[in-house]
Amino acid sequence: MDCLFCKISSGDIPAKIVREGEHTVAFRDINPQAPVHVLVIPRTHYADLGELSADPVVLAAVAAEAAEVAKAEGVDGTGYRVVFNTGSNAGQTVFHVHAHVLGGRGLNWPPG
Ligand code: C5P
Repeated sequence: MDCLFCKISSGDIPAKIVREGEHTVAFRDINPQAPVHVLVIPRTHYADLGELSADPVVLAAVAAEAAEVAKAEGVDGTGYRVVFNTGSNAGQTVFHVHAHVLGGRGLNWPPG
């Protein structure tokens, strides 16, 4: 399958890796929208959150890893946001599910 994030997960395409786990890889977003902007992906390919939900072990690993990234980046105290853009209305552009972990500044609500 020709999937950009599968290639980042396998190391075929370079990325600024933050953390790696059994089920997940976390790397810095190439176009950061906040001082901390890290993507957490499952190593296994799932297109979106709906597909990932069928695998509760990996779903939990992605969620737990998002929280660990926030801690490691030092934004757990001040607050952070975890976002799964899902589908075209939400602006999903890469169809390998990923959690955006955003922090390091005040984040507006509601998002645009
Ligand atoms: O949620 P969405 O699918 O729009 O997010 C995709 C994200 O992947 C974007 O924030 C984009 O900057 C990031 N990206 C990346 N490295 C790439 C290609 C895209 O970090 N090589």
